[in-house]
Amino acid sequence: MNVHEYQGKEILRKYGVATPRGFACFTVDEAVKAAESLGGKVWVVKAQIHAGGRGKGGGVKVAKSLDEVRDYASKILGMTLITPQTGPEGRVVKRLFIEEGADIKKELYVGMVVDRATQRVTLMASSEGGMNIEEVAEHTPEKIHKVAIDPVAGLSTQDAEEVSRKIGIPDIAVAQGGQFMQALYKAFDDCDCSLAEINPLIYTGDNKVLALDAKLNFDSNALYRHPEIVALRDLDEEDPAEIEASKFDLTYISLDGNIGCLVNGAGLAMATMDVIKLYGGSPANFLDVGGGATTEKVTEAFKIMLKNPNLKAILVNIFGGIMKCDVIANGVIAAAREVKLSVPLVVRMKGTNEDLGKQILKDSGLPIISADNMAEAAEKVVVAAK
Ligand code: ADP
Ligand code: MG
Repeated sequence: MNVHEYQGKEILRKYGVATPRGFACFTVDEAVKAAESLGGKVWVVKAQIHAGGRGKGGGVKVAKSLDEVRDYASKILGMTLITPQTGPEGRVVKRLFIEEGADIKKELYVGMVVDRATQRVTLMASSEGGMNIEEVAEHTPEKIHKVAIDPVAGLSTQDAEEVSRKIGIPDIAVAQGGQFMQALYKAFDDCDCSLAEINPLIYTGDNKVLALDAKLNFDSNALYRHPEIVALRDLDEEDPAEIEASKFDLTYISLDGNIGCLVNGAGLAMATMDVIKLYGGSPANFLDVGGGATTEKVTEAFKIMLKNPNLKAILVNIFGGIMKCDVIANGVIAAAREVKLSVPLVVRMKGTNEDLGKQILKDSGLPIISADNMAEAAEKVVVAAK
């Protein structure tokens, strides 16, 4: 789960991570009032969407008067902001963050992710902040410093300060830089983050270390422990098909191909997408209906897939274990009738009550293309989608 920059900063401040002061706003008047109450002479008007690269897309503007705050706020609020992370369709800006302008001396980078290889949280930091960190990693990997954090001991003062020094935080602010990173780790660990990225981390003309941007991702499997984080969810920023699917406990992810996949089990769903690719097709979605899929769930899954205008064919790939093939067959038929299925449907079933399931499909009179194995199913669905 993602949150907005201003929400991320609010969480981080509770752990002692230093940030500039700021207010979230939903109207232009609120934005001007926010700037007034912050005081000072420079403010930054920032679009709040769940995507980075806002600065490049015109979603972050420095204002030097209240009139400029009003002007930028009215331009950014409601605009369709296109950044390298939004895709060409962009995102409509519905919230702003008005923040005090910081006196930036240098922009740095600090990020944390869970690293599966070391099974630890890895701290990554670089002197090259404010820009695309993937490019830094590719062209000048020596400029990225990493620490694998011991989960029992946490991030030591020594490691945190050493990294601060390596990324060029001046001596006078090294202790502060170390505390910043330790506080960030504490927040990451406590909130079950899967990613925390501060780009840029800055030091200022008066030698303060501050987070100027904040991107936090939370592990969905741990959200039950954090109702206060779930409350920050902004449905405007999520894919409508994925929201709909989550209501029915379906694990659904929209993709940009044209073959809908309805599969039970995440591993089989991954393998199904691979084999579609292998035969030259492209999946429209990842969908795991889970082990206990009911007719209702299967019907909902069909409805969600069929809302996609790009959809050209559907592949149902089921392994009947706990889930019996005849139950799935009945579900598929009921769903196909209810949604008045308009695209070719290929079904491959294996496992418990397989013969019965196949017979039910055959007797239904629906134009279902059946397949005996995954390769055949993928081949048939790719042809059907053409
Ligand atoms: P994004 O990564 O989405 O482009 P950022 O929050 O990183 O958005 O902002 C982009 C750039 O705008 C930063 O690299 C920084 O140069 C500038 N900026 C952002 N917030 C402030 C601020 N409070 N004061 C001064 N400059 C800022
Ligand atoms: Mg940024």
